[in-house]
Amino acid sequence: MTDPSSQSRRSTLSIDVVGAGILGLWQALTLARAGHRVRLIEASQEPFAAAQSRFAGAMLAPWCEAEAAEPIVRDAGIAVMDLWREAFPGITTAGTLVLAQSRDMTELRRFARLAPCHIVIDASRIDDLEPDLAGRFPTGLHFAQEAHMRTPAALAALLALIRAAGAEVRFGEPWDKPGDADYTIDCRGLAARAELATLRGVRGERLLVRTRDVTLHRPVRLLHPRYPLYIVPWGDGLHLIGATVLESEDPSPMTVRSALELLGMAYALSPAFGEAEIIEVSAGVRPAFPDNVPRVVRRGRIIHVNGAHRHGFLLAPALARIVADLVAHGHSDWDHAAGLIAA
Ligand SMILES: Cc1cc2nc3c(=O)[nH]c(=O)nc-3n(C[C@H](O)[C@H](O)[C@H](O)COP(=O)(O)OP(=O)(O)OC[C@H]3O[C@@H](n4cnc5c(N)ncnc54)[C@H](O)[C@@H]3O)c2cc1C
Repeated sequence: MTDPSSQSRRSTLSIDVVGAGILGLWQALTLARAGHRVRLIEASQEPFAAAQSRFAGAMLAPWCEAEAAEPIVRDAGIAVMDLWREAFPGITTAGTLVLAQSRDMTELRRFARLAPCHIVIDASRIDDLEPDLAGRFPTGLHFAQEAHMRTPAALAALLALIRAAGAEVRFGEPWDKPGDADYTIDCRGLAARAELATLRGVRGERLLVRTRDVTLHRPVRLLHPRYPLYIVPWGDGLHLIGATVLESEDPSPMTVRSALELLGMAYALSPAFGEAEIIEVSAGVRPAFPDNVPRVVRRGRIIHVNGAHRHGFLLAPALARIVADLVAHGHSDWDHAAGLIAA
């Protein structure tokens, strides 16, 4: 084992990536494709069984997220959307539709002010985009460049790509300290809390329903001052309804209150959701730093990548690109790197 700065001059390094959630998957894929000898080490026996990533809505929505996130989230997210499209052909780019009920028009105006790159559309255009919502909303915002994916398919596709890129993948192997690899990339999510003092958990709950009575073609967000909602269509009648954002690290099952709020808002979007079958009800905890911006934290041979909050899918390729630069050159010249590397 030698000084990492001299290791970085070598083109092929041995790298352990710990944690097979969305951040670890993108790290392993990017580093293996860069020619490094990569081992992806995951504690759970079953792929994704313990990853918070399995709960995600998996929207690539940098413009909508600008409503509440720091500008770096939007800018870095926009910059890496094509990396997702190249890696996973299952991505659908049909945009996002943002709606509000008549009494919540101030919410729609506020959202429009904060979230750029949309067009304001009228009822007839809403009917064209989402015929099953015809006649229900007088106006809305269309963010045409945003994309979404079916979360389990995306995770499985990345894992297959990692194996195809020559990385070794080990499930059922809880990691506890760095081995003899040149670098260890720690992507353990909340399990890395002891090493990352400001990391916290933000609870999120969501439901998966199946219905043939209403079909959406793109993620639809219904704004509300207290209970904003999104619905992501997964195809085959499946719709993901999410998600609560609660300052709590409680991983226990969804509360009745949250189920009422989410299902009530889905019913408000379209009463046809009233006949949907509930397939899955789940709650997860998002790892987040105080400003909700994910970070790369360098500590010698260990590089922590964490704090993805609501943006794990959006920003995983950006964080992987930065780490690939760091191990190869000791620094990253990428335009958005400074905002995502901890000072
Ligand atoms: C309801 C909900 C909806 C969301 N919607 C979205 C969305 O639409 N878009 C978006 O981008 N994000 C979304 N998120 C957030 C996203 O899911 C998280 O940002 C992301 O999952 C964090 O990924 P991660 O890889 O850091 O952690 P995880 O997915 O939790 O992965 C960490 C992995 O490390 C493993 N591990 C832990 N300890 C060890 C150890 N000692 N040895 C080996 N392995 C270990 C764990 O088993 C786990 O598999 C949502 C989250 C929730 C809860």
